[in-house]
This record gives sequence, C-alpha cells and structure tokens, in this order.
Amino acid sequence: MINTTEPTPDRLAEAWRRVSDTSPADEADPLVLDCARRLAADPGGERAHVWVAGLVAMSGYLAWRPGREAERTALDALRAAVQELGDRPCPHDDHPYEADMRALEDEIWQGDTGLLTGELAAGDGDVDAERILCPRNVAGWARLAVDVIAPFTVRRVPVGAPEGHRSAISTFSGIVNDYPYGDPAEDLIDEAGSLPARPTRGVLAGYLVTMNATCWYAASERITDRSVPDAMIKGVEAAVALLGDDDPCAHAPGEHPSTDDPDHTSRVGYLLRSPGGRAEISEDYGWDSEDEEDHEDEPLDAWVCPAFLHELAAETLVALD
Ligand SMILES: [Zn+2]
Ligand SMILES: [Zn+2]
Repeated sequence: MINTTEPTPDRLAEAWRRVSDTSPADEADPLVLDCARRLAADPGGERAHVWVAGLVAMSGYLAWRPGREAERTALDALRAAVQELGDRPCPHDDHPYEADMRALEDEIWQGDTGLLTGELAAGDGDVDAERILCPRNVAGWARLAVDVIAPFTVRRVPVGAPEGHRSAISTFSGIVNDYPYGDPAEDLIDEAGSLPARPTRGVLAGYLVTMNATCWYAASERITDRSVPDAMIKGVEAAVALLGDDDPCAHAPGEHPSTDDPDHTSRVGYLLRSPGGRAEISEDYGWDSEDEEDHEDEPLDAWVCPAFLHELAAETLVALD
C-alpha cells in the first residue's frame, strides 16, 4: 500500500476495524507495520494517541497469529509509547481506561478507547477530551495492548478481573474444594466447551490451567457421567492443537509454575484470561508495580509458555483417561 498523502483518521480507523483474528497476514501485516512504524517514529509525539488507537484496534489480529515482524514492530512501538508517555505529569487522579477494567476481558479491541476522537462512544459527559487524550491514558491503553499480545511483559496494568471471571472463579473454587454450589457436571461440561476458535495466549493458557485444576474432580467417583471427562478430553485436545511450538521454552529448570494446589490453580485459570486478572497474579507474586526494570522476580510468563502448557495438558489427559 502506497500512501502519497497522510490518510485521515477516519479512513485509517475503517481499515483498522476490518483487521481481526481472521485476517490473512498479507492484508493485516502491512497495516500493522505502517501504524507501528508511525508510532515508533515519534512515540511521545502529538499523534501518538492515533497510532496507539490503531494498534489497540488491531490487537485481536496481533494476539492470534500475526507475522513475526508485525508483532515485534508493534510491541516495540507500544513499549516505546509507554516509556515516553507513561510518566508525564498530569493533574488527573484517574483515567478512562481504568474505568473499563472491571468489564474488560482480553478483547480490548472492542474497548471504547475514544483515542481517535477524544470522545467515548458511551457518551459519558464526565469524561472530557483532555482526560481521554492525556498521555497517561494513551500509555494505559498501550500497556493493555502489550499485555494482551505478550502477557506478563509489561507492568502497571491496573488490578481487577472482570465480573464474569470472578463468578467463574468462585464456581470452580467450590468444585475443587469439594463444596460445589451448582451442578458440577454441568459446570465442567460448559467450561470444557468454552474455548473460542482463536483464543488469545492468556485465554488459551487459562483454559488449559482450569482443565488441569478440575481434572481430578472429573475423574473421581463424584462424577459418574462419563460424558464429563470425555468433553474435557475433547476440549483439551483441541486446545493443544492451538498451542504453537515454534517458540522454544526459555525457562530454566524449576521455573514453570507449580500446579499442586487445585484451589490456587483454578483461580489462576481465570485470572490468566484478562489484563486485570493477570495484574492480580503479578501482585500475588510480588511484582513491584512501580518498578518496570526489576528482572529479579519469578518469570510469570511461564504461565503462558507453550512447553509448560503441553506438559500440563499431557498430565490432564492422563488423569481424565
Ligand atoms: Zn492525566
Ligand atoms: Zn517455559
């Protein structure tokens, strides 16, 4: 695509909106690369909010199977924007992106950023353009996009899993503690069939972790209906087929997380599926939210490591067989 003139934000927004997890790379990659390069050229500049809006809009594509160069360029540009904009002084106590956290799952591309127009589609009169376009709000959305594309590689994401995930956490906590609230067979079958066709890395990992946390229960005498473990086996096998294995494991021995405590594991299974939930895991593990350069901590990205998840799924399938 050759641009002789600067395209208008409306034009761009329309093109960006059409980019999704089903887009072919030869259509989506040039749009991502164009947007990311413009952001990288001036990540603290006056137009940074436009390019961050573009990458957020295209994050559904970037979180699934983007071209390598497009992914790397987008992540680098977003991180540069976080660095340039995230610590600018401002008079606000909070920013609009934080208000979305309780509703926000990994599908941030559906979020109402307002970054292109300075207005929220929801028309919240209390939120003015200055706050929407505040550098810290732009940096906030850039952080969320990085976390959805490459979970656990960015800090200072506000804590708070969405409501629906909270209720799933209590459902599965009841089951693994042998004190179910509803019908565990029904809950487990529903969960087994819940994996989307093109999950984000966090959603795919969360699904496999939840299946692992609950497999002992499904395999025990508490569940007499064979269709429950069968549905879980089918779901886990489908999830394994979606795990990429072209990324070699970069973790040292012992760095993959322990899943010995089903209560903790089932909670993590749902927290993995949203930016605010992952921030909660980071907080549990004592990540210092203020220090983005601290590399001494536990490597939390091991929760989404394909090698770890392959092992975990194999263990789950043996238990369910
Ligand atoms: Zn501000
Ligand atoms: Zn690993």
